[in-house]
Parts: sequence; structure tokens; C-alpha cells
Amino acid sequence: MIVVASSNGRIGIQAATDTIRQGGTAVAAVEVGIRLVEANPDDHTVGFNGYPNILGEVELDAGIMNGRTLESGAVGAMKGYLHAITVARQVMEQLPHVLLVGDGASRFAAEMGHPPQAEMVLPETREVWANRLRTDMSNSDIEQIAERTDLARWVQLATDPERTKGTVNFIAQDKDGNICTGVSTSGWAWKYPGRLGDSPIIGAGNYADNRYGAAACTGMGEMAIRACTAHSLVFYMKMGLSLAEACQRAMADLRDLAGRFISVMNLVAIDKEGNHAGYSSVDGRTYIYQTLNMPDYEELPRTVVPIPPRWG
Ligand code: ASP
Repeated sequence: MIVVASSNGRIGIQAATDTIRQGGTAVAAVEVGIRLVEANPDDHTVGFNGYPNILGEVELDAGIMNGRTLESGAVGAMKGYLHAITVARQVMEQLPHVLLVGDGASRFAAEMGHPPQAEMVLPETREVWANRLRTDMSNSDIEQIAERTDLARWVQLATDPERTKGTVNFIAQDKDGNICTGVSTSGWAWKYPGRLGDSPIIGAGNYADNRYGAAACTGMGEMAIRACTAHSLVFYMKMGLSLAEACQRAMADLRDLAGRFISVMNLVAIDKEGNHAGYSSVDGRTYIYQTLNMPDYEELPRTVVPIPPRWG
């Protein structure tokens, strides 16, 4: 019985652990933990006050997977509603679908009774968005950005792998041994409108299977999509590799990607016994975990498997 999270899950891990302590399911624990991160205005990579896309609009991605049934739900590029992880869970539990995007995701959120969130960012975050654009664009370009037909060029300038990206990952295993993964993000700051990262793509950004374990990713989502990272990691355990071997192998798959856009990748994972691991392609990254007999979470360094960055 354990909860594992990316380090920005600090604000939610206690509530997630308490949910399991009180007999709640892994699915409930993941949702409870992630909702607190989504509501945190100090986290600019998830939910409210996340950095917007190139047009200044916040588009949220989230995904959840129930390792008992292999059911999953996700939303992508959802605008105007805060709790993407809850909408993802409702997709999983109330629809015959797995993934809703854009207007359909917002429409479903409304139908599920979520309150619309008219303003997704605080004024100072809107200023950060505009300031970043001002390094490449004139003020009149910025004012007319919604009408432009050359956004691809501006996205190339504004999206920088060293600049803010981020996601929250939660993995929980409850008292019945059931495992759930959940991920939620506002994606890359200044991304192209409609861009989906790995978070809503089940098997890329997260995957859970009670029989073997679970994994979730942060970092350059495009890489996790290309390498099917979360599923691969769980699949390697299915093929008999240990948790550490499976993590090393999944990181090696990411390292071996060819092409131009290679940046930082991180993952957290557990095996079916609840052993945990965190990996990163760069130094200094951490992850957190809490078991039911721990009064507080512990933060641990991630094991580093270097991936040389290549950009553009
Ligand atoms: N994986 C997220 C995405 O690509 C961003 C991140 O975790 O840094 O949208």
C-alpha cells in the first residue's frame, strides 16, 4: 500500500494516502491527490494558473488508468474547466470511450456538472506569457496572434525545452492491492493549440496493470508517445524484468530515439509488490512516496540515465 508521485505532488500526497488509510480505492486516492495539485496556483504546469498555449489559452491534458480492470479515461486540450483528472475519471467510468478532446471534453465536463472556470490564469501569469512572446514578437503581433496563419513559426521560437514544462504523476496501490495511475498537466507552455502531450495518451504518459505494476511520465511528452514509455515499462516487468531493469530499459528506449526533438524525460514506477522507483535523464530531480505507516512523505533522488538533448 503506497502512494508515489512526482515531487510537485507534495501538496496532495497526504490526502491521497489518507484516502487509502480510510479504505478508499487507488482510483479515489489518485484523483484526490491530483485535484489538490490542479487547484494550486503556484504550480504553473498543472491545472489552474498553468502556463497557456501560444494563443494565451490554457489547455489541459489528463489521464487515469485502473490497473484492476485496465479501464482508462482521458481528456486532451480541454479548455474552461479546472479538474481535468476528475473529467478523465468520469470518461473512464461513465462513457464507453477512453479519450475526449477539445470542445467535446469541455462539453462533457459541463454535462457532468463541473463549474466553468472563466479565467484559468492569474494576471501575473498572463504577463509572463506576453513577456515571453515579446522577445520574438512586436506588441501588435501579439495583439493579433489569434488571427495569424503562421503560428507554427512562432511556436518553434517560443517553445524551448529548457523552459517550463511539467506534469503531476500519481501512482497509488490500495489495501486490496489494486493499482491506479493518474497524470495531469497544462502541457508545454506556448504550445501549438490542440497539441496533446503524453498525459492523455494511455500507454505513453501512464499505464497500470495490477498483475505487474505501473508507470507514469513527466518531461517531453512527444518522446513518451513515440516510445510508448509507460506501457513499455510495465510490459518489461510482464516479461520478467525487475522494476529497476524495466526502468533502465524504458529510459534506454527514450535515449535511443533518433530525430531532432530530444529533451528531458522523467518517470516514476512501482512493481506489483509496491516497490518504487524514480528515474530522470538529468541530475537533481526527485520524487516522493508515502506508505500507510509513514506520517509524512519521503523525497528521494531519481536515478539518472543520461539522454543527450538535441533540439531543432
Ligand atoms: N509531459 C508533459 C507534456 O508533454 C509535460 C511535462 O511533463 O513536462 O505535456
